[in-house]
Amino acid sequence: MPEFRIGQGYDVHRLVAGRKLIIGGVEIEHSTGLLGHSDADVLAHAMIDAFLGAAGLGDIGGLFPDTDPAYAGADSMVLMQAAWAEVQAQGWRLINLDSTILAQKPKMKPHIEAMRKRLAEVLGVKPTQIGVKATTTEGLGFVGEEKGIAAQAVALLER
Ligand code: MG
Repeated sequence: MPEFRIGQGYDVHRLVAGRKLIIGGVEIEHSTGLLGHSDADVLAHAMIDAFLGAAGLGDIGGLFPDTDPAYAGADSMVLMQAAWAEVQAQGWRLINLDSTILAQKPKMKPHIEAMRKRLAEVLGVKPTQIGVKATTTEGLGFVGEEKGIAAQAVALLER
């Protein structure tokens, strides 16, 4: 009997001027970008927490502390690859990873396929195993006011 585990992740980063906007490993042209110790890839961080949670391996902050200067400006795709290697080392395979980006602006739709392709590449899975969806919050709350971007993810693992 295969063993299945589900995990979820959530992350938020503040939008500020003078930063690159990188979501799902894709750089998006915009007037503001996400602030964080690493490249602040909010979607990658939510996904990392989802699969670490499923494997019972804690969270991204435990693996890559934001007080560690080694991770200053870190490429979240590198962090994702390292975190995924920990999960794979425990014998887990990915069934699927699904996610939602919450952003008022810019439009995510033109970038979704590039994100799925990039994330699948980094995890060594098929793009069909990676779901990326996006929604606005209809102008409500910190997302609606364009103060930040949030992401939610869920992962299903099997071994
Ligand atoms: Mg984060």
